[in-house]
Amino acid sequence: MDITEEVFKNTDEIGPEKIVYLYEPRTRMKAIVVIDNVAAGPAIGGVRMAQDVTTNEVRRLARAMTYKNAMAGLPHGGGKSGIIADPKTVHKEQVVRTFARGIKNLQEYIPGPDMGTDESSMAYIYDETSRAVGLPLELGGIPLDEIGATAYGVAVCADVAKDYISLDLNGARMTIEGFGNVGKPAARFLAQRGVILIAASDSKGTIYNPAGLNIEELIRVKDTTGSVINYKDGEVLKTTDLIIISTDIFIPAARPDVITEANADVVDAKLIIEGANIPITEDAEKMLHDRGILVIPDFVANAGGVITASVEYHGGTDMQAFDRIKSTITRSTKEILDKVYTEKRYPRETAVDIAKQKVLRAMKYREWM
Ligand code: NAD
Repeated sequence: MDITEEVFKNTDEIGPEKIVYLYEPRTRMKAIVVIDNVAAGPAIGGVRMAQDVTTNEVRRLARAMTYKNAMAGLPHGGGKSGIIADPKTVHKEQVVRTFARGIKNLQEYIPGPDMGTDESSMAYIYDETSRAVGLPLELGGIPLDEIGATAYGVAVCADVAKDYISLDLNGARMTIEGFGNVGKPAARFLAQRGVILIAASDSKGTIYNPAGLNIEELIRVKDTTGSVINYKDGEVLKTTDLIIISTDIFIPAARPDVITEANADVVDAKLIIEGANIPITEDAEKMLHDRGILVIPDFVANAGGVITASVEYHGGTDMQAFDRIKSTITRSTKEILDKVYTEKRYPRETAVDIAKQKVLRAMKYREWM
């Protein structure tokens, strides 16, 4: 199929409004930018750097940002970009600056960090274009991973969701897939509510102790040795074994498609809060819901990062970011769960409907409608 046909086949009443391909012949930098929708304001979305990033992936991620930003009530639409390069081998500053020059006139897109890019990358982009979020502290940024912005939102989700499923957080058990920037602080925030971490995984394996893991010690072990499996007081299992451990709260905080139709039936949890992006396929989410497991969708549960990015962009502080995460995620989680339980619908279906209506209403205020 011709690329034009393929691109237009995947458009709907929201977008994407613009797909831009960049190629810089001297450095051979190649990139894709998708501006999905800007009705609510300039699109915020991360810059992914990976060798295998595709138009389709960037388009799906841009749409997820449109919904995430709309759900969080931010004055921003959704976009995303992908630089086709291996972040481990390229001269990152050169590639990122070249990319930034290419998007300089794309005023309606504000880049943020994503897989393969970080706050330094955002500093280079800001230097070239005067637009970027997720900046270093020295440039007025709020270090969202350091403060655990996304993880805080995950804990706020648990505060709300527990009442819908009569779950007492004090003494509840949790398992966390991926012990990184989201997983580690999520364990801390939930432990403050009395939740006990019984297992955590990373790419090397899973550590399990039904009596509970010491979170501070586990973070120290992960940071100093590179893996949770070097923690002493627990049983070491395979990475993939994490999802079969019986738990109350499961937090996927690493890879896409960890739970699919093929393994959804082995999951034994009461509540799943999606810290990662697209960790569970849509059909598997439905299977889990039908089995009485409540799943809070990614673009609702992990909005803490982009809420902080927006607060930073508008000149706010980390304390304002925490307040905004709490009020926003409390409101959006309640809004969705009220409908899920009164209208007997799936959480993602409900959340997409609500977010889409918000985008369509924002579009009505724009002249071009
Ligand atoms: P990270 O790189 O800091 O941490 C990822 C962790 O997952 C690492 O500990 C890594 O070892 C582990 N891991 C890798 N492969 C694994 C596997 N197969 N099984 C189990 N663990 C594995 O990344 P992060 O910033 O914590 O992001 C995690 C997820 O959350 C991603 O999907 C990301 O898109 C999403 N997310 C992050 C933020 C944020 O603020 N950082 C915001 C929204 C969404």
